[in-house]
Amino acid sequence: QQTKILVSACLMGFKVRYNGSEKAALQETLQRWQQENRLIIHCPELAAGLAVPRQPAEIVSGNGADVMRGSARILENSGHDVTAHYQLAAWLALQAAQHARCSAALLTDGSPTCGSQFIYDGTFSGTQQPGMGVAAALLEQHGIRVFSAEQLPALVAWVNEREKSQ
Ligand code: SF4
Repeated sequence: QQTKILVSACLMGFKVRYNGSEKAALQETLQRWQQENRLIIHCPELAAGLAVPRQPAEIVSGNGADVMRGSARILENSGHDVTAHYQLAAWLALQAAQHARCSAALLTDGSPTCGSQFIYDGTFSGTQQPGMGVAAALLEQHGIRVFSAEQLPALVAWVNEREKSQ
């Protein structure tokens, strides 16, 4: 069975900062997978009705899993509490992934929603810390393997291995 992959919508627009060769590899692979009908392109924050453009938001005192269990909050830099919107965003990402039978996700790193290797530390000072955003954490909890865009080679290998053993 063909592996379906949930992809952060903003990766398809390549608005993220990568060096030239990483960007070319990402573009080439995503184009191929799209032609093969593997991709479910999704923005959890847009799906949850968050505005465009929106205020920067960070997880305060915890990570995405903490937010989903209610022990950490997500605040905009104005101090406005948007925790419920981001929890909804995570559930909508899970719903989209499960509906399309995705077994993996390729997500934009650093986001309080899609981050998988790192998030920001809640001080709005540009300080990174290891951790996952809300959607990445919820997807992983439900058995969907999450990869950051920087881990594309690992995802390609994982897909090949998975399909070989089927
Ligand atoms: Fe949407 Fe943000 Fe995820 Fe990009 S990183 S898909 S803008 S929620």
